[in-house]
Amino acid sequence: MPRALLAALVLAFAWPPAPAQLPSLGDTYDLTPSAERRIGERIARELYRDPDYIDDPLLGEYVEGLWRPLLAAARVRGEMTPDLDQRYAWRVLLGRDRTINAFALPGGWLGLHLGLVGVTTSRDELASVLAHELSHVTQRHIARLMAQDKRTTPWVIGAVILGALAASKSPDAAAALITGGQAAGIQGQLNFSRDMEREADRIGLGVLTQAGYEGQGFVSMFEKLHQSSRLNDNGAFPYLRTHPLTLERMVDMRSRQPLGERPSQPKPDLEHALMAARARALSSGGVELLQALVREAENVPAQASSEQKAGILYAGAIAAMQLRDPAHARRFLDRLTPLVAAHPAGARVARLMSAELALATGDAARALSEAGSAATRPETLLAAQAAIRAGRPEDAAQRLQTWIATHPADGAAWQWLAHAQSAQGLALRAIRSEAEARVAWLDYTAARDRLRAAQEMARRGNSDHIEASIIDARVRALDSMLREQALER
Ligand SMILES: [Zn+2]
Repeated sequence: MPRALLAALVLAFAWPPAPAQLPSLGDTYDLTPSAERRIGERIARELYRDPDYIDDPLLGEYVEGLWRPLLAAARVRGEMTPDLDQRYAWRVLLGRDRTINAFALPGGWLGLHLGLVGVTTSRDELASVLAHELSHVTQRHIARLMAQDKRTTPWVIGAVILGALAASKSPDAAAALITGGQAAGIQGQLNFSRDMEREADRIGLGVLTQAGYEGQGFVSMFEKLHQSSRLNDNGAFPYLRTHPLTLERMVDMRSRQPLGERPSQPKPDLEHALMAARARALSSGGVELLQALVREAENVPAQASSEQKAGILYAGAIAAMQLRDPAHARRFLDRLTPLVAAHPAGARVARLMSAELALATGDAARALSEAGSAATRPETLLAAQAAIRAGRPEDAAQRLQTWIATHPADGAAWQWLAHAQSAQGLALRAIRSEAEARVAWLDYTAARDRLRAAQEMARRGNSDHIEASIIDARVRALDSMLREQALER
């Protein structure tokens, strides 16, 4: 059964829709939001472990900044019930993948590929994709698909979706599964229907404009996907397989724009241009792609807009740094800096780039001073790394603890705190911080293993009584979380 079901869900996530045979909107479904959230957590835990997962503080902050107003708008418009609001994760995880893809998972988790971020030309376009995915979640489309197969347990569904995600990265694997066996019979029942796509578009458009973005974002994103996929039908657009772009969808979104508003080019947006450039440079393209970005930055077209020039130079600088050529990166950065000086967000990006570059070349003091003292995530994480490198782990620990006090689910912050504590010789605390990082990444087993090692260490007389009792309490909490998880199988 699992094999057939796996094939069926691969179809659900990777195949154009057949005529809808879904429960109507009024139907009830057995999968509770809590059960769905746990399936989502199981999938998210694997995504956090995936080498493609990327926690880039700047891009993460940028996407989060687009995402939060959409959530607020969904609340105002009554799309998000208080129950879903509270039970779902509502988190966007970034993937390094160069393909154009975004997907909603059970329980309010979203996956967003840097490939998609890299092709958007405005925040409205990127926000339109997030609004569409958000609406699939608030309308419980995924729950409705999953609830149709009564034979499966949530644990199996989680495994199946993971299989489908893995398969979606490899077209061959997906094809092999699709041709295998009984899948065809179930196909019609498990596809996202046209109705669901239309609903996600329409509700997404309402949420998008309520949040203050231009509704045109939908139209220009659709046009972009349509044109690029026609030129380039090489499987780089898994997004179009999961959300097939029909003429009907394009016409529908165009007709819903305010009367008299002509399809316009997106307004120039320096911050977005820089973030899209960062996404292009950090996506997993390999050495040749990085070299191409460097060459582009060496030959910036004179007729390009200042936003485009800034993007090209920024991508070139990041690419050169990835290629371990910091001198080259610094030259690009020196040309970028005056272009963005008058724009606070742009100037900040250039300053942080300079700090990253200083850190990469071992100039920790310069990195520390350029990272500055702002209590924002990119600054905090960069400054902490620089402080550790500069031999001031206590400064790093203090800054990280302040951050963690208000962001306790920040795995990377806990991980850097562990480094700082370790450098201070605080072995027990370092192990606990490492465990807390694993909790943040939803890997409770790994967290408990680390805490048990810490208990052993405490027993052997390396005593820090307060820390030891915190560790005991955390072990008990994790034991009960793990027991709860085991019951769900
Ligand atoms: Zn969709």
